[in-house]
Amino acid sequence: MDFTKLMSWSLKEFSSLPWRKERTLYGTLVSEIMLQQTTVSTVRGKFEEFLARFPTLKDLAAASEDEVCMAWKGLGYYRRARNLRKAAQSLIGSCNGKFPVTQEELVKLPGIGDYTASALIAIGMDKSELAIDANIERVMARYFGLGQTKGPKLHREIREMFLTGDIFPEEISARGFNEAIMDVGRVYCQAKKANCLNCPLAEGCIALLSGEPLAFPNTDQVLAKTPMHKVVLIRVISKEGNQILGVKRKRDEWLAGQVELPTYILESSDPSFKRYPLWKGPLPLELMRLGSTITKYKFENIIVESSVDLGKKWKLSPEEVNFSSVTLKILRQLKLV
Ligand code: SF4
Repeated sequence: MDFTKLMSWSLKEFSSLPWRKERTLYGTLVSEIMLQQTTVSTVRGKFEEFLARFPTLKDLAAASEDEVCMAWKGLGYYRRARNLRKAAQSLIGSCNGKFPVTQEELVKLPGIGDYTASALIAIGMDKSELAIDANIERVMARYFGLGQTKGPKLHREIREMFLTGDIFPEEISARGFNEAIMDVGRVYCQAKKANCLNCPLAEGCIALLSGEPLAFPNTDQVLAKTPMHKVVLIRVISKEGNQILGVKRKRDEWLAGQVELPTYILESSDPSFKRYPLWKGPLPLELMRLGSTITKYKFENIIVESSVDLGKKWKLSPEEVNFSSVTLKILRQLKLV
Protein backbone atom coordinates (compact mmCIF):
# COMPACT_ATOMS: atom_id res chain seq x y z
CA MET A 1 0.00 0.00 0.00
CA ASP A 2 1.36 3.44 -0.91
CA PHE A 3 0.90 5.09 2.51
CA THR A 4 2.56 8.34 1.45
CA LYS A 5 0.23 8.86 -1.49
CA LEU A 6 -2.82 7.83 0.54
CA MET A 7 -2.14 10.01 3.56
CA SER A 8 -0.96 13.09 1.70
CA TRP A 9 -4.15 12.98 -0.41
CA SER A 10 -6.28 12.81 2.74
CA LEU A 11 -4.33 15.60 4.46
CA LYS A 12 -4.54 17.88 1.44
CA GLU A 13 -8.26 17.34 0.90
CA PHE A 14 -9.67 16.97 4.38
CA SER A 15 -7.40 18.44 7.07
CA SER A 16 -9.71 21.46 7.13
CA LEU A 17 -12.64 19.43 8.52
CA PRO A 18 -13.50 21.27 11.76
CA TRP A 19 -12.85 18.27 14.04
CA ARG A 20 -9.46 17.62 12.39
CA LYS A 21 -8.14 21.18 12.70
CA GLU A 22 -7.32 20.96 16.38
CA ARG A 23 -7.57 17.44 17.73
CA THR A 24 -8.66 16.92 21.33
CA LEU A 25 -10.08 13.77 22.90
CA TYR A 26 -13.28 15.59 23.74
CA GLY A 27 -13.64 16.86 20.15
CA THR A 28 -12.92 13.35 18.84
CA LEU A 29 -15.59 11.86 21.11
CA VAL A 30 -18.15 14.40 19.87
CA SER A 31 -17.25 14.12 16.19
CA GLU A 32 -17.04 10.32 16.15
CA ILE A 33 -20.46 9.96 17.76
CA MET A 34 -21.91 12.59 15.40
CA LEU A 35 -20.40 10.87 12.35
CA GLN A 36 -21.99 7.51 13.13
CA GLN A 37 -25.05 7.38 10.82
CA THR A 38 -24.71 11.02 9.72
CA THR A 39 -22.90 12.40 6.67
CA VAL A 40 -19.74 14.50 6.90
CA SER A 41 -21.49 17.47 5.27
CA THR A 42 -24.25 17.48 7.92
CA VAL A 43 -21.76 17.11 10.79
CA ARG A 44 -19.56 19.84 9.29
CA GLY A 45 -22.38 22.33 9.84
CA LYS A 46 -23.11 21.20 13.41
CA PHE A 47 -19.81 20.30 15.08
CA GLU A 48 -18.52 23.79 15.79
CA GLU A 49 -21.95 24.99 16.87
CA PHE A 50 -22.19 22.09 19.35
CA LEU A 51 -18.71 22.78 20.72
CA ALA A 52 -19.49 26.48 21.08
CA ARG A 53 -22.55 25.48 23.12
CA PHE A 54 -20.63 22.88 25.19
CA PRO A 55 -16.95 23.86 24.97
CA THR A 56 -15.70 21.26 27.47
CA LEU A 57 -16.51 17.81 28.73
CA LYS A 58 -17.55 19.45 31.99
CA ASP A 59 -20.06 21.75 30.24
CA LEU A 60 -21.58 18.78 28.43
CA ALA A 61 -21.79 16.70 31.63
CA ALA A 62 -23.54 19.56 33.45
CA ALA A 63 -26.16 20.12 30.71
CA SER A 64 -29.66 18.66 30.91
CA GLU A 65 -30.72 15.93 28.49
CA ASP A 66 -33.14 18.34 26.80
CA GLU A 67 -30.39 20.94 26.28
CA VAL A 68 -28.11 18.35 24.66
CA CYS A 69 -30.90 16.99 22.46
CA MET A 70 -31.82 20.51 21.34
CA ALA A 71 -28.21 21.20 20.35
CA TRP A 72 -28.23 17.87 18.49
CA LYS A 73 -31.13 18.94 16.30
CA GLY A 74 -30.53 18.20 12.62
CA LEU A 75 -28.27 15.21 13.29
CA GLY A 76 -31.04 12.65 14.00
CA TYR A 77 -30.73 9.42 16.02
CA TYR A 78 -31.00 11.24 19.36
CA ARG A 79 -29.98 8.19 21.34
CA ARG A 80 -26.41 9.21 20.38
CA ALA A 81 -26.85 12.62 22.04
CA ARG A 82 -28.05 10.99 25.24
CA ASN A 83 -25.16 8.49 25.16
CA LEU A 84 -22.67 11.28 24.57
CA ARG A 85 -23.95 13.14 27.61
CA LYS A 86 -23.83 9.95 29.71
CA ALA A 87 -20.23 9.33 28.60
CA ALA A 88 -19.29 12.91 29.57
CA GLN A 89 -20.95 12.51 32.97
CA SER A 90 -19.13 9.30 33.75
CA LEU A 91 -15.79 10.70 32.54
CA ILE A 92 -16.27 13.66 34.88
CA GLY A 93 -17.82 11.61 37.72
CA SER A 94 -15.57 8.57 37.85
CA CYS A 95 -12.44 9.44 35.85
CA ASN A 96 -11.78 13.04 37.01
CA GLY A 97 -12.43 14.26 33.47
CA LYS A 98 -9.57 12.15 32.06
CA PHE A 99 -10.06 9.66 29.26
CA PRO A 100 -8.93 6.09 30.04
CA VAL A 101 -6.27 4.94 27.56
CA THR A 102 -7.24 1.33 26.90
CA GLN A 103 -10.09 -0.23 24.97
CA GLU A 104 -11.10 -2.35 27.99
CA GLU A 105 -11.47 0.69 30.25
CA LEU A 106 -13.12 2.89 27.65
CA VAL A 107 -15.91 0.42 26.84
CA LYS A 108 -16.84 0.25 30.53
CA LEU A 109 -18.10 3.84 30.25
CA PRO A 110 -21.79 4.20 29.41
CA GLY A 111 -22.31 5.48 25.91
CA ILE A 112 -18.94 4.25 24.59
CA GLY A 113 -19.02 1.10 22.49
CA ASP A 114 -16.24 -0.85 20.74
CA TYR A 115 -16.10 1.43 17.72
CA THR A 116 -16.02 4.71 19.67
CA ALA A 117 -13.32 3.32 21.99
CA SER A 118 -11.18 2.28 19.01
CA ALA A 119 -11.71 5.68 17.37
CA LEU A 120 -10.66 7.48 20.58
CA ILE A 121 -7.44 5.45 20.71
CA ALA A 122 -6.60 5.53 16.98
CA ILE A 123 -7.76 9.02 16.04
CA GLY A 124 -7.92 10.90 19.35
CA MET A 125 -4.71 9.51 20.88
CA ASP A 126 -2.95 8.57 17.62
CA LYS A 127 -2.04 5.16 19.07
CA SER A 128 -1.86 1.95 17.08
CA GLU A 129 -5.50 0.90 16.58
CA LEU A 130 -7.97 0.37 13.75
CA ALA A 131 -11.48 1.82 14.19
CA ILE A 132 -13.43 -0.49 11.89
CA ASP A 133 -16.49 1.40 10.73
CA ALA A 134 -18.48 0.57 7.56
CA ASN A 135 -16.08 2.59 5.36
CA ILE A 136 -12.93 0.96 6.71
CA GLU A 137 -14.53 -2.49 6.52
CA ARG A 138 -15.48 -2.01 2.86
CA VAL A 139 -12.17 -0.48 1.74
CA MET A 140 -10.11 -3.14 3.53
CA ALA A 141 -12.27 -5.92 2.05
CA ARG A 142 -11.73 -4.51 -1.44
CA TYR A 143 -8.06 -3.58 -1.18
CA PHE A 144 -7.10 -6.98 0.27
CA GLY A 145 -9.71 -8.88 -1.79
CA LEU A 146 -11.47 -10.44 1.23
CA GLY A 147 -14.35 -12.58 -0.01
CA GLN A 148 -15.95 -12.92 3.42
CA THR A 149 -19.60 -11.90 3.86
CA LYS A 150 -20.06 -8.38 5.24
CA GLY A 151 -20.67 -8.60 8.99
CA PRO A 152 -19.03 -9.94 12.17
CA LYS A 153 -16.82 -12.56 10.45
CA LEU A 154 -15.36 -10.00 8.06
CA HIS A 155 -14.90 -7.58 10.96
CA ARG A 156 -12.97 -10.29 12.88
CA GLU A 157 -10.83 -11.12 9.84
CA ILE A 158 -9.83 -7.46 9.41
CA ARG A 159 -9.16 -7.13 13.15
CA GLU A 160 -6.86 -10.18 13.08
CA MET A 161 -4.99 -8.77 10.07
CA PHE A 162 -4.53 -5.52 11.98
CA LEU A 163 -3.29 -7.31 15.13
CA THR A 164 -0.73 -9.29 13.12
CA GLY A 165 0.52 -6.06 11.54
CA ASP A 166 -0.72 -6.91 8.05
CA ILE A 167 -2.65 -3.69 7.53
CA PHE A 168 -0.30 -0.87 8.46
CA PRO A 169 3.15 -0.85 10.06
CA GLU A 170 3.78 0.71 13.49
CA GLU A 171 5.71 3.70 12.18
CA ILE A 172 2.65 4.95 10.30
CA SER A 173 0.39 7.40 12.17
CA ALA A 174 -2.72 5.47 13.24
CA ARG A 175 -4.71 8.71 13.14
CA GLY A 176 -3.59 9.54 9.60
CA PHE A 177 -4.19 6.00 8.36
CA ASN A 178 -7.67 5.62 9.89
CA GLU A 179 -8.78 9.03 8.65
CA ALA A 180 -7.41 8.43 5.16
CA ILE A 181 -9.14 5.04 4.74
CA MET A 182 -12.41 6.52 5.99
CA ASP A 183 -11.97 9.30 3.40
CA VAL A 184 -11.36 6.78 0.60
CA GLY A 185 -14.50 4.87 1.62
CA ARG A 186 -16.55 8.04 1.64
CA VAL A 187 -15.21 9.63 -1.52
CA TYR A 188 -14.08 6.91 -3.94
CA CYS A 189 -14.90 3.48 -2.62
CA GLN A 190 -18.60 3.71 -1.86
CA ALA A 191 -20.94 0.79 -1.24
CA LYS A 192 -22.58 0.96 -4.68
CA LYS A 193 -19.95 2.88 -6.66
CA ALA A 194 -16.16 2.63 -6.91
CA ASN A 195 -14.21 5.38 -8.64
CA CYS A 196 -11.00 3.37 -8.96
CA LEU A 197 -9.52 5.64 -11.59
CA ASN A 198 -8.91 8.44 -9.10
CA CYS A 199 -8.46 6.36 -5.94
CA PRO A 200 -5.10 6.70 -4.14
CA LEU A 201 -5.26 2.96 -3.35
CA ALA A 202 -5.66 1.84 -6.97
CA GLU A 203 -2.14 0.44 -7.14
CA GLY A 204 -2.23 -2.97 -5.47
CA CYS A 205 -6.00 -3.10 -4.93
CA ILE A 206 -7.13 -6.70 -5.43
CA ALA A 207 -10.79 -5.83 -5.99
CA LEU A 208 -9.78 -3.50 -8.81
CA LEU A 209 -7.52 -6.16 -10.30
CA SER A 210 -10.40 -8.64 -10.21
CA GLY A 211 -12.36 -6.35 -12.53
CA GLU A 212 -15.35 -6.42 -10.17
CA PRO A 213 -14.58 -4.06 -7.28
CA LEU A 214 -18.18 -4.01 -6.07
CA ALA A 215 -18.15 -7.79 -5.54
CA PHE A 216 -16.17 -7.18 -2.31
CA PRO A 217 -17.22 -7.64 0.42
CA ASN A 218 -19.84 -10.27 -0.28
CA THR A 219 -23.24 -8.77 0.53
CA ASP A 220 -25.57 -11.41 -0.98
CA GLN A 221 -26.54 -13.02 2.32
CA VAL A 222 -26.83 -9.65 4.09
CA LEU A 223 -29.23 -8.32 1.47
CA ALA A 224 -31.23 -11.55 1.47
CA LYS A 225 -31.50 -11.45 5.26
CA THR A 226 -32.77 -7.90 5.61
CA PRO A 227 -35.92 -7.36 3.55
CA MET A 228 -37.48 -3.91 3.69
CA HIS A 229 -40.92 -3.66 5.21
CA LYS A 230 -43.53 -1.29 3.91
CA VAL A 231 -45.46 0.59 6.58
CA VAL A 232 -48.20 3.11 5.89
CA LEU A 233 -48.62 5.66 8.70
CA ILE A 234 -51.23 8.30 9.34
CA ARG A 235 -49.77 11.51 10.78
CA VAL A 236 -52.39 13.85 12.17
CA ILE A 237 -52.22 17.65 12.06
CA SER A 238 -54.57 19.03 14.66
CA LYS A 239 -54.45 22.82 14.92
CA GLU A 240 -55.93 25.39 17.24
CA GLY A 241 -54.78 28.92 16.44
CA ASN A 242 -50.98 28.78 16.25
CA GLN A 243 -50.80 25.65 18.35
CA ILE A 244 -50.63 22.11 17.17
CA LEU A 245 -51.05 18.77 18.90
CA GLY A 246 -47.80 16.94 19.59
CA VAL A 247 -46.77 13.79 21.42
CA LYS A 248 -43.44 13.58 23.22
CA ARG A 249 -42.06 10.05 22.91
CA LYS A 250 -41.28 8.51 26.29
CA ARG A 251 -37.75 7.64 27.44
CA ASP A 252 -38.17 3.91 26.66
CA GLU A 253 -39.93 4.45 23.32
CA TRP A 254 -38.69 4.66 19.78
CA LEU A 255 -37.41 8.22 19.02
CA ALA A 256 -37.31 8.85 22.79
CA GLY A 257 -37.56 12.49 23.84
CA GLN A 258 -38.67 13.75 20.42
CA VAL A 259 -41.99 15.36 19.61
CA GLU A 260 -44.08 13.72 16.90
CA LEU A 261 -47.43 14.39 15.38
CA PRO A 262 -50.01 11.91 16.67
CA THR A 263 -49.28 8.86 14.51
CA TYR A 264 -51.19 5.69 13.68
CA ILE A 265 -50.50 2.54 11.65
CA LEU A 266 -52.76 2.12 8.64
CA GLU A 267 -51.02 -0.99 7.27
CA SER A 268 -47.73 -2.79 7.77
CA SER A 269 -46.04 -5.73 6.07
CA ASP A 270 -44.26 -6.42 9.38
CA PRO A 271 -46.76 -7.67 12.00
CA SER A 272 -44.18 -7.05 14.77
CA PHE A 273 -44.14 -3.29 14.04
CA LYS A 274 -46.25 -1.97 16.94
CA ARG A 275 -44.71 1.42 17.63
CA TYR A 276 -47.99 3.28 17.09
CA PRO A 277 -51.64 2.40 17.66
CA LEU A 278 -53.70 1.12 14.74
CA TRP A 279 -55.83 3.60 12.84
CA LYS A 280 -59.51 2.78 13.21
CA GLY A 281 -62.18 4.45 11.17
CA PRO A 282 -62.25 6.43 7.92
CA LEU A 283 -59.50 8.74 6.76
CA PRO A 284 -60.06 12.50 7.15
CA LEU A 285 -58.96 14.93 4.44
CA GLU A 286 -55.46 14.05 3.13
CA LEU A 287 -53.06 17.00 3.00
CA MET A 288 -50.07 15.26 1.43
CA ARG A 289 -47.97 12.08 1.30
CA LEU A 290 -44.33 11.83 2.22
CA GLY A 291 -41.91 8.92 1.99
CA SER A 292 -39.24 8.19 4.60
CA THR A 293 -36.95 5.27 5.40
CA ILE A 294 -35.65 4.25 8.80
CA THR A 295 -33.50 1.09 9.07
CA LYS A 296 -35.54 -1.75 7.49
CA TYR A 297 -38.79 0.22 7.26
CA LYS A 298 -39.96 2.10 4.22
CA PHE A 299 -42.66 4.46 5.43
CA GLU A 300 -45.41 6.10 3.52
CA ASN A 301 -46.66 8.98 5.66
CA ILE A 302 -50.19 10.11 4.92
CA ILE A 303 -50.69 13.52 6.47
CA VAL A 304 -54.25 14.28 7.44
CA GLU A 305 -56.00 17.14 9.18
CA SER A 306 -58.31 16.39 12.03
CA SER A 307 -60.10 18.45 14.62
CA VAL A 308 -59.18 16.80 17.89
CA ASP A 309 -59.56 18.33 21.30
CA LEU A 310 -56.06 19.68 22.09
CA GLY A 311 -55.02 17.96 25.27
CA LYS A 312 -51.22 18.25 25.01
CA LYS A 313 -50.03 21.09 22.84
CA TRP A 314 -46.97 23.12 22.12
CA LYS A 315 -46.34 26.48 20.57
CA LEU A 316 -44.98 26.26 17.05
CA SER A 317 -41.38 27.15 17.69
CA PRO A 318 -38.86 24.74 16.18
CA GLU A 319 -36.12 26.35 18.30
CA GLU A 320 -37.79 25.20 21.48
CA VAL A 321 -39.27 21.90 20.40
CA ASN A 322 -37.24 18.80 19.74
CA PHE A 323 -39.23 17.63 16.71
CA SER A 324 -38.51 14.29 15.09
CA SER A 325 -37.00 14.83 11.65
CA VAL A 326 -40.09 13.53 9.82
CA THR A 327 -42.38 15.81 11.84
CA LEU A 328 -40.17 18.81 11.13
CA LYS A 329 -40.17 17.97 7.41
CA ILE A 330 -43.98 17.70 7.38
CA LEU A 331 -44.46 20.98 9.27
CA ARG A 332 -42.02 22.77 6.96
CA GLN A 333 -43.65 21.43 3.81
CA LEU A 334 -47.03 22.56 5.09
CA LYS A 335 -45.42 25.91 6.00
CA LEU A 336 -46.51 25.51 9.62
CA VAL A 337 -43.04 26.39 10.94
S1 SF4 B 1 -9.15 1.04 -6.18
FE1 SF4 B 1 -11.36 0.95 -6.34
S2 SF4 B 1 -11.97 -0.87 -5.19
FE2 SF4 B 1 -9.86 -0.41 -4.64
S3 SF4 B 1 -10.05 0.82 -2.79
FE3 SF4 B 1 -9.94 2.26 -4.50
S4 SF4 B 1 -12.08 2.66 -5.11
FE4 SF4 B 1 -12.04 0.84 -3.79
